[in-house]
Amino acid sequence: MESFIRANIRAMAGYTPGEQPRDDAFIKLNTNENPYPPSPRVFEAVRAVLTGDRLRKYPDPAGTEFRRAAGRILGVDPDAILIGNGSDDILTIVTRAFVPEGGLVVSPTPSYLLYRTLAEIQGARFQTVPFTPDWQLPSPWPIRGAHLTFLPNPNSPSGTAVDLPALERFADQLEGPLVLDEAYVDFAEDNGLSLVGRKNVVVTRSFSKSYALAGVRFGFAVADPATVRQLLKVKDSYNCDVLSLTAATAAIEDQDYLGQTRARILATRRRMTDALAALGFVVCASQANFVWCRHLHWDLKAIYAELKKRRILVRYMVYDSHGDGLRISVGSDGEVDRLLEELAGILRDVRE
Ligand SMILES: *Cc1c(COP(=O)(O)O)cnc(C)c1O
Repeated sequence: MESFIRANIRAMAGYTPGEQPRDDAFIKLNTNENPYPPSPRVFEAVRAVLTGDRLRKYPDPAGTEFRRAAGRILGVDPDAILIGNGSDDILTIVTRAFVPEGGLVVSPTPSYLLYRTLAEIQGARFQTVPFTPDWQLPSPWPIRGAHLTFLPNPNSPSGTAVDLPALERFADQLEGPLVLDEAYVDFAEDNGLSLVGRKNVVVTRSFSKSYALAGVRFGFAVADPATVRQLLKVKDSYNCDVLSLTAATAAIEDQDYLGQTRARILATRRRMTDALAALGFVVCASQANFVWCRHLHWDLKAIYAELKKRRILVRYMVYDSHGDGLRISVGSDGEVDRLLEELAGILRDVRE
C-alpha cells in the first residue's frame, strides 16, 4: 500500500511541530502562544453561536463578515482578503497555486521550517539563502526565477525584522511572487501591507499569536483581488468553520484589547531581553513575541534539557549558517520570572 504513495512524499521527512505537553504543570515557552486569553468578546460571540442553530449548517465559504471587519480595520478592500484555517493553510494554498511540480521555492535561512515541507509536498525544489550575520537580506539577492519566495517578517527564530525600504528593494529584485509571512507583525514596529497591490506581494497573517487563538485555527492573506480570485479556486470551500470565523471576527473587532495585551507583552519582552543579557546570553533585538538567544560558551542544548526537567519548555534550534540557540516565547510576567530564576540556578551549577 505504502509503495503507491508519491515518491516525493515518501522521500520527505515531514514537518515536526513544537512539543505540546499534555501536562498543564509545564510552562510553555516553545511555540509562541499568547500568555493572555483571547478578548472577552470572543467568548461571548462563540457562546452565541453554540446556543443558536448555526452548527447544523455549513459556514460561509467566503468568510464575508470576517473580511468586511478585517477590511475596515486594516484599510483594505474585503475582496483583497482570503481566509484560511490558520496561516499555515494560507501558505499551503499559495504554494499549490503558484508553484508547479519541479518548480523552485526559496526562503532565507534560518527561518520557518514549514516552507521546505510545503515545497516537498508540491514536488518542487527548495533553496535557502542565509541571512547576513545581523539578520538582514543579502543584497543583491542571489536567486532569480523562483516560483515563490517566502520571507517571515518578523522572522522566526531570530525575532528580527527587515525594514520597509529593504522589503521594497527585495520585492523589486524578485521575478516571482513574494509571500510576506507576517505571523508576528502585531508585535513589530512596521508592516508590509502597503506593498500589496503595488507589487508582487502577498501578506499572510495569523490569529495564533497576537490574538491568542492558536487553538481555533484562523489566518488570512491580503493580495490584489484578481490574485485572491485565483487563490479561491485552490482553497477548500469550507476551510474555516463557523466557530473560527466567529472567534476571529470578534477578536479583530476588539483592537483595544489587542493593544492592551500587546503592550504587556512588549514590556515583558524588554525586561526579559535585559535579564537574559545580564545572565550572559547574546539576545537578538526582537520585534516578535519571543526572543532568540545564543551563548558563545555554554551548552545551550544542556540548558534546554535542564529547563525541561524543571518543567519549562523552550525551543532549542541548530542551523548550519547561524549555529544554535534558544527561542523563548514571551510568557506572562510570572512565567518569565520563573524562567529567569531557574536559568540563574542552572547557570550557577554549570559554572561550579
Ligand atoms: C506560527 C507561525 C505561522 C502559523 O500560524 P498559524 O496561523 O497557527 O497556522 C506561520 N508562520 C510563522 C513564521 C509562524 O511562526
